[in-house]
Amino acid sequence: MKRPALISAACLSCATIVPGGALFCPDCGRYALELVRRCPQCGGFIEQPNGDELGCRFCRDKKFAFDAAASPFIYAGAVAKAVTTMKYGPIYRSAVAMGRFLGTHIPDPMRIADRVIFPPMSRMALFLRGFNQAAVLADEVARRGVMLLDTHLLKKVKRTKQQAELSLDERKRNLSGAFALTRPVAGKRFLLIDDVATTLTTANEIATLLKNNGADKVFVLTFARKSLHFD
Ligand SMILES: [Zn+2]
Ligand SMILES: [Zn+2]
Repeated sequence: MKRPALISAACLSCATIVPGGALFCPDCGRYALELVRRCPQCGGFIEQPNGDELGCRFCRDKKFAFDAAASPFIYAGAVAKAVTTMKYGPIYRSAVAMGRFLGTHIPDPMRIADRVIFPPMSRMALFLRGFNQAAVLADEVARRGVMLLDTHLLKKVKRTKQQAELSLDERKRNLSGAFALTRPVAGKRFLLIDDVATTLTTANEIATLLKNNGADKVFVLTFARKSLHFD
């Protein structure tokens, strides 16, 4: 028996049924911006490729502990709506669809990672939301990318505030010492998955912890990336 060639799914932004397994319907698709010109250091959107290998306007004076960061989409329009509805909906199947997409769009240099991880949530946050969206995304990425998902490597050891309401310095203080490792990581290569990256504070905090404990590589892959240009 032939398998059906097309699968249908709900548009991540407006929930209209779209054939062919696309993330967005044609209308919303026009407002889903792919992040095509990426900063070599932070993976953020750059207006003009200016040969400045040191980084973009946001990260030029910063140093990150991770080796590279990338996101297929800019956090704006239909993508921003999709992420917020997925998270606060909460809509589990949207997280699965985003994870599947990410898993088939792992940048080549990141494929050397041998395990997939995600920022853990506190028990209370998990209870309130019902699921850790980053864990769902990471699970799908691991399946598609044929990598090992390490669900218990990181644990949250400090209560933190919602990052969204905080300034860059407050974010750093908020997250400082928030995570701990449950196992040795020396020589290992990690792919950290999340739904959205803004200032990369969370990613950098986790990457610092991993690198300080001897991890070989840490790559960051998020579904969407907030950009100063699209605020
Ligand atoms: Zn739509
Ligand atoms: Zn940058």
